[in-house]
Amino acid sequence: MKSLLRILLTWLVIILFIVTVFIIYNTKEEKYINNGEDAPIPESLHPTVDKQLNKLLEQSKGKNIDIVITAGLRSKEEQNQLYKKGRSKEGNIVTHAKAGESYHNYGLAVDYAIRNKKGEIIWDMNYDGNGNGRSDWIEVAELAKDFGFEWGGDWSGFKDYPHLQMTFGLSIAQLQEGLRPKTEEKQQD
Ligand SMILES: [Zn+2]
Repeated sequence: MKSLLRILLTWLVIILFIVTVFIIYNTKEEKYINNGEDAPIPESLHPTVDKQLNKLLEQSKGKNIDIVITAGLRSKEEQNQLYKKGRSKEGNIVTHAKAGESYHNYGLAVDYAIRNKKGEIIWDMNYDGNGNGRSDWIEVAELAKDFGFEWGGDWSGFKDYPHLQMTFGLSIAQLQEGLRPKTEEKQQD
């Protein structure tokens, strides 16, 4: 009798384990798709990034802040050219990411700047064009965070103030392996 109970318990543990693994595996599958190491880079911004970016542009406009998107999806070649800046090419270092190492290469990041009243594109973090006593740049960053973006100005190491990204929990290493965030299909709004 005692051994029967032990067998039953052992089986119960095994079944629970299998069910747990199954659930974890499937939850992961729902969020990501794996296209393999040769997965092509997307041809446009991820639809969720694009949708949230449009909300950000709209809300900023409502606050009388004129944002300019200076970079979106970047090809691997463009990324390598950018990496050379301040290294083998003239200028200041603008990125620490080589081809495939930036969320820009996967359509998951954008860079912004502000257009002032004269129509010039500026990178002035103190500029208060709407005159509400707050930096327009920071106002945009805060709005972006409300819409689910991570802001490069919050990074502890190299701060990338114009940079906004959505990782969907994926690391650069995972993206390089071919994992991609799933797109929400047939969403109507
Ligand atoms: Zn960027």
